[in-house]
Amino acid sequence: MKAHDNCIFCKIVAGQIPSRKVYEDDDMLAFHDIHPKAPVHFLIIPKAHVDSLDACGPEQGDVLAKMLLKAPQLARETGCGNGFRTVINTGPDGGQEVYHLHLHVMGGPRTEWKAALP
Ligand code: 5GP
Ligand code: ZN
Repeated sequence: MKAHDNCIFCKIVAGQIPSRKVYEDDDMLAFHDIHPKAPVHFLIIPKAHVDSLDACGPEQGDVLAKMLLKAPQLARETGCGNGFRTVINTGPDGGQEVYHLHLHVMGGPRTEWKAALP
C-alpha cells in the first residue's frame, strides 16, 4: 500500500503521527478528530490513499461500503446511542481540508453542535 507523500492521514495510518484510535482493520482506520465539533467526533478513512470522494472509482466501492457500514457500530461504541451525523467534505467548495478521503462521524447529546459542520 503506497503512502502519499506529505499526506497527514497516510502518516497516521503508518503510525508516524499519533492518533486516538477508534477502530482498525486491514482496509480502514477510525480515529478521533483532533478538533472535535461535537461531543463525539471521529473520522473513518481508507488505509489506501485516495484524495477525495471525487477521486473514487469502482475500485473504492468496497472500502466505501465498509466505511459507511461500520459507522453505526462505532458510533454506538463511542456513545452516540441516540443518533449521529455523517459528513464527507469534497473539494474546495465542499470545505475539504485534508486530501485523503475521510468520513466524519459526529454525535453526542443534542445541543448547538448540530448547527456546526466540520
Ligand atoms: P475536512 O475539512 O478535510 O473534511 O476535515 C479534516 C479534519 O481532520 C478536520 O476536522 C481536522 O480537525 C482533522 N484533522 C486534521 N489534522 C489532524 C490530525 O493530525 N489528527 C487528527 N486526529 N485529526 C486531524
Ligand atoms: Zn493519504
